[in-house]
Amino acid sequence: MDAITSKMSQGSCSEVALFPEVSAQCPACRLHALVSIQLVQTDGGNWIQIEHAATDDPLTLDTCPICFGAWFDRGELAAIGDIEVDQQTAPPSSKEVSFRTCPRGHGLMQSLQMPGVLRTPIERCRTCEGVWLDGHERRKLALASTREGQGPRSRQLARRGVIWALQLVTQLPVEVENPERGTPWIVYCLVGLLLAGFLLSVAGVFLYRNWALIGGRFAINPVHTVHTFVTYQFFHANWLHLLGNAYFLYLFGDNIEYLFGRLRFVLLFVGAGLVGGLLHVALSSATATPVIGASGAIAGVMAAYLWSFPNVRLFQVIPFTPIQVKIPAWVYLIVWVVFQAIMAVFSTALSFAWYSHLGGFAFGLLLTPWVLRWRRRQVARAVEVPAHTGTSMLGV
Ligand SMILES: [Zn+2]
Ligand SMILES: [Zn+2]
Repeated sequence: MDAITSKMSQGSCSEVALFPEVSAQCPACRLHALVSIQLVQTDGGNWIQIEHAATDDPLTLDTCPICFGAWFDRGELAAIGDIEVDQQTAPPSSKEVSFRTCPRGHGLMQSLQMPGVLRTPIERCRTCEGVWLDGHERRKLALASTREGQGPRSRQLARRGVIWALQLVTQLPVEVENPERGTPWIVYCLVGLLLAGFLLSVAGVFLYRNWALIGGRFAINPVHTVHTFVTYQFFHANWLHLLGNAYFLYLFGDNIEYLFGRLRFVLLFVGAGLVGGLLHVALSSATATPVIGASGAIAGVMAAYLWSFPNVRLFQVIPFTPIQVKIPAWVYLIVWVVFQAIMAVFSTALSFAWYSHLGGFAFGLLLTPWVLRWRRRQVARAVEVPAHTGTSMLGV
């Protein structure tokens, strides 16, 4: 053990010098540079994350804040005490070339089956013997560096109890992880605008009908009502409608704003609302009913979340029961959109603009892969290390 510890401390010293704050692009999602986190072991034997590496000899890991995967340099996984990844433990037949590259710059890694330990193969670099664990694999082996795994158990249980009680009343989903990074200013501004629109219409300053989307009115006079494709998003029917939309905007929007950047996030929101409005006008039979609310725009944000964070888990109470389950976001969002589609076709209730939800969702589904491609290129450029000088010299 002592040998490992001393090797570890040497490892982390040289690592600090070579890979300061941020190292390479996440080999799994490629949406973020790996970020160093420091862990120390408590008296109880648990590893906890510390903010500043002031204390004695922390263990430095590189993690991805988007997909929660983690890179373990040689020996780190064993030091944390999860598993010993040893070439001997895996049968040679299970070793295949992975399509992911070593974040230390050694090219494609090897994918390694760990029968009896994990169902999915892990990636290992043949050169530096570092190991990559995806978020769910790492969760299975250790909760040490995720937020959920920190703090005393009693506090975690108390928090979970409060969430459960609130969910029984509201039936709303809650993110288990995926904390916000940076301040989601656009989300806050949009919530402020939604609130202002609602209060001004309640106060009678704006007559919401004038700003609502009405299919029949648009058909008669398109030039004078074209602005309603944007304005309808900022008015709500009642407090419940407003608070529900604001909650979903915050729940899914904070992480998406961080990932997209502010300008693209605004484009997503407004564009989804616009396309949602167009689809509603084109397909809905409710041509005389005024449509208001940001749900079409928020559906676009939800679609972006489906692409970007499919495996983040949400707490959800099964409707009409006290049973709380943890489900991946992709399950929640697909169930949600299928429900919208079924209701759009079969529901006769005119007070729900199902098609605007579907249109907004479709816009988010189409826009997001394009944004993610841009983001991957941007991160790759940011972490780019000058090519091996030897090779480039040969080329000259
Ligand atoms: Zn990642
Ligand atoms: Zn390597």
